[in-house]
Amino acid sequence: MLNAMTVDVEEYFQVSAFSDVVKRSEWPNYESRVRESMDRILGLFESHDMKATFFILGWIARQHPQLVKQIHRQGHEVASHGMYHERVTELTSQQFSTDLIDSRMLLEDITGAQVKGYRAPSFSLPLTTQSYEILADAGYRYSSSVYPIKHDHYGEPNAERFNFEGGSGVLEVPISTLRILGRNFPAGGGGFFRLLPYHYHKMGFSRLNKVEGKAGVFYMHPWEIDAEQPRPIGISAKGRFRHYLNLKKTYGRLARLLDDYVWSSIEQVYQF
Ligand SMILES: [Zn+2]
Repeated sequence: MLNAMTVDVEEYFQVSAFSDVVKRSEWPNYESRVRESMDRILGLFESHDMKATFFILGWIARQHPQLVKQIHRQGHEVASHGMYHERVTELTSQQFSTDLIDSRMLLEDITGAQVKGYRAPSFSLPLTTQSYEILADAGYRYSSSVYPIKHDHYGEPNAERFNFEGGSGVLEVPISTLRILGRNFPAGGGGFFRLLPYHYHKMGFSRLNKVEGKAGVFYMHPWEIDAEQPRPIGISAKGRFRHYLNLKKTYGRLARLLDDYVWSSIEQVYQF
């Protein structure tokens, strides 16, 4: 059974949890670390002979066009994570549409290949027919913008757990969850992958593949394998705990997850 591996390509200082402290206008003042982490991730994926989907922030694509080219050249899927990591809920419909079109065209200009997928920053896509209509009009075929769990920063605990038609012919591909005693538990990565022991995640994917007969969808960030990243000042204790927890362990855990299951990109798994 094929599972979908996805990476949200952004810098450590662009995460939503830091957005009150690190303003967009200050981004150029921070040391860029994405290139090094991406080299390690691309090398790891190559050594496992697998493809993945990379949801690349437009701001990153502008700064690192060679990185985008390399991702594409190595056979991976290039998709959009928007231009500036703004929550969709903070944009007007017109701004959302412009963000979708600008980021798609930027990536397509760099690679020469069609961009089909979008992931909303912080899984902030409202699950309305209007959202999917805007996505369709902006040229997208699918979105992977829902994590059906309860979380203070993101999550739609009542959303469908597996891929569903969001509207206007656009498929929504949610991040994987486990259903236990009528509740959804995270199984598809992010901070939970660093928080919970490896065997929990292994059990989760076994259950998805063997018991439910479904593909899993996993997501991660380059900064999650970068234990040496600079630490911006002024982040809350909770924000620090979540962001810096087990950074040293993530690369090794990821390597195990790649060994234990079979992976590809969303476009391969769902055959776009
Ligand atoms: Zn993001």
